[in-house]
Amino acid sequence: MSDAPRLVVTVDRTRCIGSGLCARTAPADLSLAPDGRATPARPDTAASAELTEAAEMCPVEAIAVRDAATGELIAPAW
Ligand code: SF4
Repeated sequence: MSDAPRLVVTVDRTRCIGSGLCARTAPADLSLAPDGRATPARPDTAASAELTEAAEMCPVEAIAVRDAATGELIAPAW
């Protein structure tokens, strides 16, 4: 069991253009819903390079990764 903070991933589905980039980069944390837009794959998660990369590379900045306890923005780093 890791001591790393739990993270919550959110997707602004009004911004998502359905590129699928995040689901390919971090499939454990993001997937495409039947409507073709990304959605978090689980209620909370742990930090990973893949998740950070997915949040950083979203072309419309629709993904936010926050500390579940504090709400601090973890990724992307603006
Ligand atoms: S990378 Fe961004 S635009 Fe592409 S599917 Fe994921 S959330 Fe949507």
